[in-house]
Amino acid sequence: MYEKIVAELDDKKVKLVAVSKTKPPEMIHTVYDKGQRIFGENRARELRDKHEVLPDDIEWHMIGHLQKNKVKYIAPFVNLIHSVDNKALLKTINKEAAKNDRVIPVLLQIKIAEEESKYGLSIEDARGILSLPEFSEWKNIEVYGVMGMATFTDDMDQVRREFKTLKEYFDQLKAEFFSEDKSFQEISMGMSGDYLIAIEEGATMVRIGSLIFGARN
Ligand SMILES: *Cc1c(COP(=O)(O)O)cnc(C)c1O
Repeated sequence: MYEKIVAELDDKKVKLVAVSKTKPPEMIHTVYDKGQRIFGENRARELRDKHEVLPDDIEWHMIGHLQKNKVKYIAPFVNLIHSVDNKALLKTINKEAAKNDRVIPVLLQIKIAEEESKYGLSIEDARGILSLPEFSEWKNIEVYGVMGMATFTDDMDQVRREFKTLKEYFDQLKAEFFSEDKSFQEISMGMSGDYLIAIEEGATMVRIGSLIFGARN
């Protein structure tokens, strides 16, 4: 299945984040040996522990909800944080990145699901953060784009609508805040059940777990 997904994505130049949460390092190594280099985790300490025992050339992405007091575990090495959903978190990431003398790339997680979802910024909140006077002083973070999760449903028309919305929000933020900034270019959307739709709607990065690693317990 891994090879089939990679072939589909290579055609379209979409990046694959292999979501390895709950899976042991040996299983990750098997997928690494097939050539995969980007892995995503949703818990900070699990991410740190796996980083310590797996090869150095893996690019580690944090995709799950992140609490401020856990940023320190991943700040020394994390390659992209997809799940920035509030101002205080962004400020903390900037501070921890500065301590490590690095710039941490982040995505703003935007709420697109029509269902009640716990996490994610409204588009107004995202604009609010990007308009803050402090924002331009945060030199140790760089915003690479947006991330979103569609409603968990069999209604693929609804899922497609939500992905279209995220693409529109990306285009708006790009025009309003990042027109001169080439780094703002990523749209992280699509998981095992809906990644083909996400790609049709403009995803540049998909996050796929169970199709690669099998169902989680
Ligand atoms: C678990 C997870 C995924 C992957 O889900 P699958 O359905 O197993 O592909 C993607 N994104 C986030 C934020 C996740 O937590």
